Amino acid sequence: MSEHILNKAKAIVIAGNVKPISATEYLVKSTDSGKLYDISIGDQNIMSCNCTAYEYRGQCSHVLAVVEYRERTPRVIQEIHRVIENKE
Ligand SMILES: [Zn+2]
Repeated sequence: MSEHILNKAKAIVIAGNVKPISATEYLVKSTDSGKLYDISIGDQNIMSCNCTAYEYRGQCSHVLAVVEYRERTPRVIQEIHRVIENKE
């Protein structure tokens, strides 16, 4: 894994460009292009993204941004997201 995409992922998180939609879906806005990508979390927490980098390499800064976001976001906040989404 290159240092470059890790730094990109961190920049995305710092910019507040990771938005949880549900417990298994995130919307990530690219800091380069401003495009929005859908990241979904499947079995065994395997994440996938709908961008071309993920399609070709199976890895991208958006998926890493979600990983970073989940590590940084306290469990309590993740729990709140879960409660909110269950009410909808
Ligand atoms: Zn991606």
